[in-house]
Parts: sequence; structure tokens; C-alpha cells
Amino acid sequence: MRRVTEKSAVKARANGAHRGKVNSDGRRGARGKHSGAPRVTLIPGDGVGPEVIASAVKVIEAVGIKIDWDQQLAGAIALRRFGSPVPDQLIDSLNSTKVALKGPLETRVGEGYRSINVYLRKLFDLYANVRPVRTQAGVHTPFSGVDLIVIRENTEDLYAGIEHQVAPGVVESVKIITARASTRIARFAFEYARTNHRRLVTAIHKANIMKLSDGLFLKCAQRVARDYHDIEYKEQIVDAACMRLVIDPQAFDVLLLENLYGDIVSDLCAGLVGGLGFVPGANYGRHGAIFETVHGTAPDIAGRGIANPLAAIKTGALLLDYLGHGRAGDRIRAAVDAVLRAGRVVTPDIGGKAGTADMTAAVIRALK
Ligand code: ATP
Repeated sequence: MRRVTEKSAVKARANGAHRGKVNSDGRRGARGKHSGAPRVTLIPGDGVGPEVIASAVKVIEAVGIKIDWDQQLAGAIALRRFGSPVPDQLIDSLNSTKVALKGPLETRVGEGYRSINVYLRKLFDLYANVRPVRTQAGVHTPFSGVDLIVIRENTEDLYAGIEHQVAPGVVESVKIITARASTRIARFAFEYARTNHRRLVTAIHKANIMKLSDGLFLKCAQRVARDYHDIEYKEQIVDAACMRLVIDPQAFDVLLLENLYGDIVSDLCAGLVGGLGFVPGANYGRHGAIFETVHGTAPDIAGRGIANPLAAIKTGALLLDYLGHGRAGDRIRAAVDAVLRAGRVVTPDIGGKAGTADMTAAVIRALK
């Protein structure tokens, strides 16, 4: 594999993240058995995962892109079947394909094994989590004209998972922030902004309280910002940013966040556009990518056939961008927009009565 500089890899990922101009630098380019179709690891996941991932796969097939899926189990279902939530064959598959479409994986609150979502992102150093959030015509919310890109650092912060009991009744969680990770995520955000013609990057922080850790994150972002005179750079404290987002979301464009703030603010942003059912996501690294929705396993509706499949379908479109099929990705996004604008076949989370399968079929019918 050709060696790449951090900057070019970031640029490639930033490109692929939005428009499908994929630079092959970051991928090993595993090819499938069949006619050169790219080989992609498919992880249906837990809860609503298998339902919505099946929808994404159907839509990708319907748009005419052939993918050689290598289906693997992970999470709770893998634990039951193989005794491990991350079986060896899953890791082997990811090592070989370097790219996956993944459903949400169950992570128990306050007990059990560590988040497998977090584990996989760290294992493959998928440091940049990208979540495009925009208003969808036909979906009623108090907000209009929302068009945000949430860029979240994926590898450190409180997600380093360093927690211990100091004494009975006293525990400590360690927040790790490094100049290396902060600089590369800032560079990713600015490259993304430049490549995708965005005007502004806002770094979100709590450096008034966490002067060392968030202070370092900000210093790195400021240093990187100096290389991008064409893009405006601002900073906002996280609590004030949350308030501003729900008063005037147009004041933001690309949001640059550490891991925990990124997690929380992503859901807030999803709420601005009608919920988690629409927001796709991707995790990019220098050598690969995992595509996954922002939403989790939604245990309250799992197995009932009523999950909104659009987040997974749009996540599939991001995968196609990455694989160099940006036009097919655009066709899928246009079909999703058409279904929502028509508002006839929609799932209960947005006030309809349709099931996952009906909505998937409607998207396929709307493909042009
Ligand atoms: P996890 O622990 O896996 O993150 P969770 O229930 O805490 O699960 P989500 O799965 O993200 O978090 O669900 C939050 C809420 O959003 C739930 O009420 C769920 O039903 C709803 N939701 C999530 N995804 C969808 C979807 N695709 N369609 C409809 N509703 C959804």
C-alpha cells in the first residue's frame, strides 16, 4: 500500500465523506469474488440493526451497485453465538476489507463489556466521526434550514475507558486529550470544510473549566485554523453552543468536537431535524472506514418492523460515496427526499403508519 501523508489521507476521507471523490490511499481495496465488486464487511448488529441494515442493502442493490458483502456478527448476538462480542472472524474480515456497513450494537448501561462500537473505532483508528444533519422537507420540526456537519473526535477523551475506584464510594474517570489526536481531527474538519465548500468551523469546548484538556484541544484547532484563511473559525463553550443550536442553528456550519461533546451534540442536532431516524454517520481513518447510523439499537421498537430505515439507507449512500459511487449515493439521497416530501409512506417516529419494509420499498420506487 502506498504511504500517504496525514494531510492527503484526511483530504481523501473528507472528499469521500461527502461527494464520493475517493482517493484509494486509505483503502486496501479488497475485491470480491464476483466481477471486481468491492468486498465490504456487513454487520447487521443488535436491536433494530438487522431490520434497517437489510433496508440499506436492498436500496444499494436497487441502485445497481454490486457489493460482495461479507456478513459478520458482532455485539450481543455474537456473544450469544460465539462467546465474544467481537469474534476473531469479524476482526479478520475488517482487517481484510477495511470497510464496513454496521448496524448499532448493544452496550449495557453501567455494566457488562465495553462498547463494541467504541472498541472497533479505536481498534482501526477511525478517528473522525462525521454526521451530516439537515432539514428534510416533509418532516415537521420547529426548525428550518438546518444544515450542519458534526465532526467528532473518535479515539480519546472520556471514551478512553480509563475508570477506577479510588476508594469505596469514590470513582475516577480519566479524560485523555492529546495534541496529536486534536490536531488531526481539526485538520480533518478544515479539509472537509474546504472540500465541501462550507464556510465556517466552530470548535466546541469547555476550556473555561477544563483548562488543560479542552485548552489543548482549542490550541490545536487554533493552530490548524491558521492554515485555512478561506474558512472562518470560531469557538463556543459547549453549554452556550447547545442553547445557540436550538435558537439559531444557522449560526453553525461545521462543528468540531471532542468525543463526549460530539456524542451529545449529535443527538441534539438530530433532534433539530426530526429525530434519529434520518441521520447517517461514518467513521473514517487513514486505512479504512465504518459506516453506521447515529441511532442505537432502539430496543423499545426492535423486532416490530416499524423502525425508520432512512438513517441506515442514507448511511449506505455515504458508503457508496466512499467506494467511488457518488452518483448512486446522490440518487439514494434524492429518493429519500422524495419519499419524505410526499409524506405518504412514513414510519411512526415521524407521524406515519408505514413499516420499515414499506418505507424501504417507497425509497426503491422513488429511485431515478
Ligand atoms: P442504545 O443504547 O443502543 O443507544 P437507546 O435506546 O439508548 O439504545 P437509541 O437506540 O438511539 O438509543 O434510541 C433512542 C430513541 O430513538 C428510542 O426511543 C428509539 O425508539 C428511537 N429511535 C432510534 N432509532 C430509531 C429508528 N431508526 N426509527 C425510529 N425510532 C428510532
